[in-house]
Amino acid sequence: MHILIVGAGYTGLTAAKDLLAAGHKVTICEAAPAPGGLASGFRGSDRWEWPLERFYHHLFETDSDLRSLIGDIGQSDKLFFEAPRTVQWWRGRTWQLDSPVKVLQLPLMPFIDRVRFGFAIAYLKYIVRDWRPLERETAASWSRRVMGEKAYTGMIEPLLRGKFGSLAETVNMAWLWSRFKARSFKLGYYRGGFQAFADDMVKYVVNKGATVHFNRPLTGLTYDGQAWFATSPNGEILNADRVLVTTGPDVLKRLVMSLPATYLAGLEKLQSLGAMVMTLALRQPLTENDYWINMPKPEFPMLAMVEHTHFIDAKHYDGDHILYCGDYVPVDHPYMTMSRNEIIEAFLPALQRVNPAFERSWIRDAWVHRERYAQPVAPVNHSGSIPPIKTPVDGLYWASMSHVYPWDRGTNFAVEIGHRAAAVLIADNK
Ligand SMILES: Cc1cc2nc3c(=O)[nH]c(=O)nc-3n(C[C@H](O)[C@H](O)[C@H](O)COP(=O)(O)OP(=O)(O)OC[C@H]3O[C@@H](n4cnc5c(N)ncnc54)[C@H](O)[C@@H]3O)c2cc1C
Repeated sequence: MHILIVGAGYTGLTAAKDLLAAGHKVTICEAAPAPGGLASGFRGSDRWEWPLERFYHHLFETDSDLRSLIGDIGQSDKLFFEAPRTVQWWRGRTWQLDSPVKVLQLPLMPFIDRVRFGFAIAYLKYIVRDWRPLERETAASWSRRVMGEKAYTGMIEPLLRGKFGSLAETVNMAWLWSRFKARSFKLGYYRGGFQAFADDMVKYVVNKGATVHFNRPLTGLTYDGQAWFATSPNGEILNADRVLVTTGPDVLKRLVMSLPATYLAGLEKLQSLGAMVMTLALRQPLTENDYWINMPKPEFPMLAMVEHTHFIDAKHYDGDHILYCGDYVPVDHPYMTMSRNEIIEAFLPALQRVNPAFERSWIRDAWVHRERYAQPVAPVNHSGSIPPIKTPVDGLYWASMSHVYPWDRGTNFAVEIGHRAAAVLIADNK
């Protein structure tokens, strides 16, 4: 069976590996010039030794699917873990959040509320196994009820508001549970970055017989009852027996005109947010030693500042100190169209508040990356809205970030859904 995979992100590459192992012929078409999708990197200077993620990335120790895959392709020695500082900005300074004791020491609320909050987190992390009852309630109402009003306004509300803006109160509790469940304080990285892992995966699948086309944005997928035909702007038409699409729902809708109306109505219900991340190459560090700073919104114009070079040595970036400033926003938000310089202007005061010595002259270069489909939103009873991987159209399969629920999107879950998609295709086409 010849299977066409649309997208060489972590989902598509994982599925390709499994489909090849099952004896299928695999062709991947990727719109971008390189693999990796949302986890892909760029080089801000010829002198950078490693590419840098367009959107800040790290792994957790709990990311078992990605860790196994790295082992399966024989690259475990490239994975390493560190314990960089994660902090919360509150009342003009940072507070450490990277151990249970530090969280309990946060003076955000009275001690008794901190203890209650600590028990609630321990309950979610170590006791709750079945997330389904949790999805019936919003994260806001569950946390208010179980953790208390002070813990909600001090800890949970800023997290939800920061990430989901006006949709914060609609997100269900299973999503919040997954955040506490599948995270560790130690963070991991791949030598050469997440781009290097995607490159290693491409080498692996090509070595096993896959064909991978880059710079090949597909524009249409049609089925004539026997074979699928994929069109692209270069006029070349590719055919295959089955198709696995790994993009967001909007691209799926544009590619396949023959989706039934009821299925389309289901796709319309899937909500998501875009992301805008500005990356600065600074001549000196912004903070003394903080990797991840949660910024309270609307006090700050971004959800997080991530000083990557307090996690990964600046020597890999020719001594540049890398600072990301990022936010999740609706696709019609001004951040999705503002120019690079307008965004720098909007963010400068925030950088000066974090370090009053900061000056514009510290910026050696800056880049802005945006993505329309970056963060799925999970409202109450969301599991009933997730479409199956096998679509109602003959020979068409779809696996995406919208499928990894209740887990929050992430490279580990892209790998997991890639395995699942391949298993569905293999079982279906024996
Ligand atoms: C700001 C931000 C921070 C993140 N931080 C982390 C983190 O710290 N750790 C972590 O594990 N995860 C993180 N993630 C999430 C992670 O990057 C994603 O969950 C994962 O990469 C999704 O992989 P995917 O293959 O499912 O989708 P994608 O990576 O989106 O892959 C889909 C691919 O399809 C291609 N494509 C689209 N349209 C077409 C077309 N018409 N024809 C051909 N190809 C097409 C795209 O170019 C892309 O390569 C972050 C994401 C964002 C936005």
